[in-house]
Amino acid sequence: KARDPYQPEFMQAVKEVMNSLWPFIEQNPRYAQQGLLYRLVEPERVIQFRISWVDDHGRVQINRGFRIQHSSAIGPFKGGMRFHPSVNLSILKFLAFEQTFKNALTTLPMGGGKGGSDFDPKGKSDGEVMRFCQALIIELHRHLGPDTDVPAGDIGVGGREIGFMAGMMKKLSNSAACVFTGKGITLGGSLIRPEATGYGTVYFAEEMLKRTRQSIAGLSVSVSGSGNVAQYAIEKCMQLGAKVVTVSDSHGVVVDPAGFNAEKLAALIELKNEKRGRVETYAKLFKLRYEAGKRPWHVPVDVALPCATQNELELEDARMLIKNGVRCVAEGANMPANLEAAAAFIDAKILYAPGKASNAGGVAVSGLEMAQNAQRLHWTREEVDSKLHAIMRHIHENCVDHGAHGDYVNYLHGANIAGFAKVADAMLHQGIY
Ligand code: NDP
Repeated sequence: KARDPYQPEFMQAVKEVMNSLWPFIEQNPRYAQQGLLYRLVEPERVIQFRISWVDDHGRVQINRGFRIQHSSAIGPFKGGMRFHPSVNLSILKFLAFEQTFKNALTTLPMGGGKGGSDFDPKGKSDGEVMRFCQALIIELHRHLGPDTDVPAGDIGVGGREIGFMAGMMKKLSNSAACVFTGKGITLGGSLIRPEATGYGTVYFAEEMLKRTRQSIAGLSVSVSGSGNVAQYAIEKCMQLGAKVVTVSDSHGVVVDPAGFNAEKLAALIELKNEKRGRVETYAKLFKLRYEAGKRPWHVPVDVALPCATQNELELEDARMLIKNGVRCVAEGANMPANLEAAAAFIDAKILYAPGKASNAGGVAVSGLEMAQNAQRLHWTREEVDSKLHAIMRHIHENCVDHGAHGDYVNYLHGANIAGFAKVADAMLHQGIY
């Protein structure tokens, strides 16, 4: 705390992991050696830089860029780039810390990192976004490489932004090696990567329900957010016969008791991805109820999938969901439930999956994109989807192995312990540096 007094999100993430790990470390004292825990909470490298670019009016704009290279213990740094005005060191350090354990859970050899900028892509022209991405890479390129650090997308960074960054990276490095994942198909992207986080979250929820002899088919689901993760979580829920009754953005929530269908989802995707519009417009289009300034958690559902951002589900929201009979909560976003909300779900013995387990499908398929690029091969949709499904099942089993207490599985403990043990063992084997 003394070192990072102004980093609340980072402190929150560290506290959550340490709470889970403490009894495990007491039983396995080798993990208390060699300053391991102190090394683990200190990123290997933090890069901060100026991004200067010229807007459509010829004015010079300045943004701040970051890359947190948290841990390379089990492979090259790997984690997304976030473009959002709220981006700061605390948020990126929390995300990079979480990413390290998540990547360990995927079974693929990837270390943890995260980066981004306080740049706001909303309202910017394609030309402005391109010039910004190019300016960012002019600085960041020297820190990236296919065996060093391989970024991907996150909030505000989708296929368009990845394309601009990967293009400039190729030019500066004179190499077509895989330095970004989440690329478009024509430039080496993997099928199913856009779908992977949302699909993986629903696969994980399905596994949790199955283990308690329940099926997701026929259940009602609330989804928050309307971006990449939310869109494909909605699609997979529909495919599995569940009814999604909410969708939201940073301005409000749409409540739709009849549930999503293919036509509504196509309209939402076009509105958000092409027109970069708001869910309020989507509500008007289909004459649905829109609640300005609200989140989805007051709507009674069987399953809740928070897919927007950190700390979007607080204690009061958790209590409301529990009171209304929620059975399962699987996080598509990173740390959407705060510490108190997560504890409330666990106390009430609700099936609750932390993002580092349930949203790991995105980075897992990023790992598969790296593998395909290295092999110079392109796998089919079915191949990638079946690998994603197998990885999500494996993560689920791993969480059960480390988190089962009698009949109830504490997935938060399970995920933290399983991810930590892999990273910690790798660190111990490599000595002190
Ligand atoms: P997008 O930018 O595609 O979508 C983000 C969504 O969340 C938008 O609907 C946005 O609303 C909403 N949102 C963003 N910030 C806030 C806020 N402060 N309050 C309320 N709503 C907000 O991002 P992704 O879907 O890619 O990411 C969503 C979450 O999933 C993040 O936590 C990310 O870290 C996590 N994640 C993403 C992965 C991926 O593969 N993309 C992988 C693993 C985790 P609006 O349109 O109004 O901005």
